[in-house]
Amino acid sequence: MALTNTQVILWLQQCAQLFEKNSDYLTDLDREIGDADHGLNMNRGFKKVLEKLPEFENKDIGFILKNTGMTLLSNIGGASGPLFGTFFIRGAKPAAGLESLDLNQLYDVFKDGVDGIVSRGKAQPSDKTMCDAWWPVLDALKQANDDKLSIKEAVTKALDAAKKGAEDTIPMQAKKGRASYLGERSMGHKDPGSASVVFILQALTESLDK
Ligand code: ADP
Ligand code: MG
Ligand code: MG
Repeated sequence: MALTNTQVILWLQQCAQLFEKNSDYLTDLDREIGDADHGLNMNRGFKKVLEKLPEFENKDIGFILKNTGMTLLSNIGGASGPLFGTFFIRGAKPAAGLESLDLNQLYDVFKDGVDGIVSRGKAQPSDKTMCDAWWPVLDALKQANDDKLSIKEAVTKALDAAKKGAEDTIPMQAKKGRASYLGERSMGHKDPGSASVVFILQALTESLDK
């Protein structure tokens, strides 16, 4: 079973729903170690994506992901807009012209997307950023692909990996972004961007149930 362009649209719709529902939660995380806008940022960005969904119907997945990324880039300010925007824009490349993705292709989308985030944000492991959730997601998808699991099983494992990655940011001291200004005081709080990665994966698992 492959992930179709219709399911990609459902994924984005589900992202918009989850970011609306969890906007306060994410903003509260950002209040602890940032400037209390992360949930607002993600909600605003994905609301704009939601408005674009009718234009995405019957388009190839590369087109959908690229336009999602550009919409996020131009509507979310701060650090996270360019980074999540880059994820979708760079992830669009291996999906260019494709109307469905097998697990190997889905991995390529995530791999190129995360590589884009890293080349832009320069985060290293344990810097307490969204990358500390993205890397375990990549590892899980790669392992699932090697094990020839279904997309549904792979994405469920990737969601678990994201959750664990986000939890693991709690004791870390932030080395990138606003939270790094706090030095040791950034320890003991979950990184907001890593929590958003969890919602993006949760949305993907939910889109596969539809
Ligand atoms: P801002 O910090 O500009 O207000 P947000 O609050 O929307 O932006 O997003 C903050 C999140 O961005 C952080 O929780 C972190 O996950 C992520 N982030 C910040 N800087 C980087 C970076 N250099 N690389 C990866 N992620 C980063
Ligand atoms: Mg912020
Ligand atoms: Mg901000």
